[in-house]
Amino acid sequence: MFIDYVKIFVKAGQGGSGCVSFRREKFVSKGGPDGGDGGRGGSIYLITDSNLHTLVDFKYRRHYHAKRGQHGLGSGKHGKGAPDTIIKVPLGTLVRNTDTDEILYDMVEIDQKFEVAKGGRGGRGNARFVTATNRSPRDWEVGRPGVEQNISLELKIIADIGLVGFPNAGKSTLLSRISAAHPKIADYPFTTLKPNLGIVKYHDFQSFVVADIPGLIEGSHEGKGLGHQFLKHIERTRALAFLIESTDENPHESFKILYKELGQFSKKLTKKPYIIVLSKADLSDPSEQEKKFNNNEIVIPVSSVTGENLQKVIDHFYELIQKAKDSEKE
Ligand code: GDP
Ligand code: MG
Repeated sequence: MFIDYVKIFVKAGQGGSGCVSFRREKFVSKGGPDGGDGGRGGSIYLITDSNLHTLVDFKYRRHYHAKRGQHGLGSGKHGKGAPDTIIKVPLGTLVRNTDTDEILYDMVEIDQKFEVAKGGRGGRGNARFVTATNRSPRDWEVGRPGVEQNISLELKIIADIGLVGFPNAGKSTLLSRISAAHPKIADYPFTTLKPNLGIVKYHDFQSFVVADIPGLIEGSHEGKGLGHQFLKHIERTRALAFLIESTDENPHESFKILYKELGQFSKKLTKKPYIIVLSKADLSDPSEQEKKFNNNEIVIPVSSVTGENLQKVIDHFYELIQKAKDSEKE
């Protein structure tokens, strides 16, 4: 099942309390205070894990508590700090405080780590309360409470359809022809390349988002060319459209190169539903090219210049999205 929004409660551990204790030694009737401090309560961290792709685990567990710190002990021994609690979230998780609606983190980088609830400090033991006038204090402190927060996790899909193709395949042109508006992507703080997004109107009431992903080049899964940055964008789309130029002498081979490239970056990408778009159909006879694909592959010739099949492509995109949503529910 695909879950893209959950609310959870996190509570860090309370600090351990300080201890009241006095030295007991043979021949020393009144030992000084030796109560140790309490240990720090465990903190709660959120960390991105690229192997996670849904928030489904959170459906079954909504409360996260870190342990409290150990209390201080006699003989000046401090209580042990509690271990931190680590919560793994998928890449692309947006974290908000649900009481204020404030965005806390946008977790888009691999191995990103944030302390979402800080553990409470341990209380001081009586050894720390000695003053010039009070040599045997009985003062001590309770450990501070851990921070608690109601937060929401939201897995952001940046687009319904990702356009994938070699540079010059005609992705940007197609996007500009089928889309009605270009939403701002300033909300998606990626470091370098940004996908160009377009909202496609579907009939009167519906719309979906298509992302023009900067050109895919062979070897990019190894970090060559544009590198992993944009492959990450593709991970956050529901379905894919491979754009292959219809003037390509071996369009099926080009498709396979792209497909393999994606698969080497992440197997998950090759599980997304896809169609193949033969672009620039005005420049060659696409019916000959279509024959070069397998029967089970959906291939649609399109021309952004003449407008041929633009509506058909939109229809197929819509179907593809429904298919992706259905499989997300499984
Ligand atoms: P991208 O790198 O995949 O985004 O490709 P572009 O959209 O920038 O297009 C690359 C070149 O192909 C540009 O010169 C476009 O004008 C041209 N082009 C794009 N679509 C078509 C088309 O349908 N027919 C023709 N004849 N040229 C096209
Ligand atoms: Mg482009």
